[in-house]
Amino acid sequence: RARLSSKARGAARLVVLAGPTAVGKGTVSAYIRENYPEVVFSVSATTRKPRPGEVDGVHYYFVDDAEFDRMIEAGEFLEWATVHNMSRYGTPRAPVRDALAAGRNVLLEIDLQGARQVRANDPDALLVFLAPPTWDELVRRLIGRGTESPEEQRRRLETAKVELAAEGEFDRTVVNTTVPEAAREVVDLMSVPLRAHARE
Ligand code: 5GP
Repeated sequence: RARLSSKARGAARLVVLAGPTAVGKGTVSAYIRENYPEVVFSVSATTRKPRPGEVDGVHYYFVDDAEFDRMIEAGEFLEWATVHNMSRYGTPRAPVRDALAAGRNVLLEIDLQGARQVRANDPDALLVFLAPPTWDELVRRLIGRGTESPEEQRRRLETAKVELAAEGEFDRTVVNTTVPEAAREVVDLMSVPLRAHARE
């Protein structure tokens, strides 16, 4: 099994950014993508359909169920999961391995199930939990999107409560007060030497 050993990767870090629904993960990672071109973004494969403006190979690799099954069988994923909307998402292993081997820091923006798989497979990965400033703020952001029905909002709040409890499984927490500050904190964590992150 091809592990991403720290010897092979030099000083480069694999960083996972995860957190509860509506915390602003997508916004923070988009900000990093725009402002910190030195960070390599893993492009996930997904079985969901592209949204308007999404480009195949940039935002995701859009694949059908048969191709996703094939990738699982072939061991091509570092991790994969079925996310709340019933679509499957996975991180292709090879590009991550190649970027780390080339000494580049890699960022994965994935869900909690995926973060747990990375933790299990790669002890050197750094798991960063993006947290809302307060619970009330998370509720405000979730409802403020205005895209979900009241029932869907309740369901998501329940999910968020469970997800917030996962913070203890992470190496570091970054509070998403403002997007530029949160982005900078995540990027700064990437340049801290491996050993400094070792947990007691
Ligand atoms: P969306 O469909 O809105 O782009 O993403 C839905 C969810 O899927 C987000 O929580 C995102 O973090 C998660 N996700 C995206 N790519 C991956 C992946 O490769 N693996 C896992 N486990 N989750 C992913």
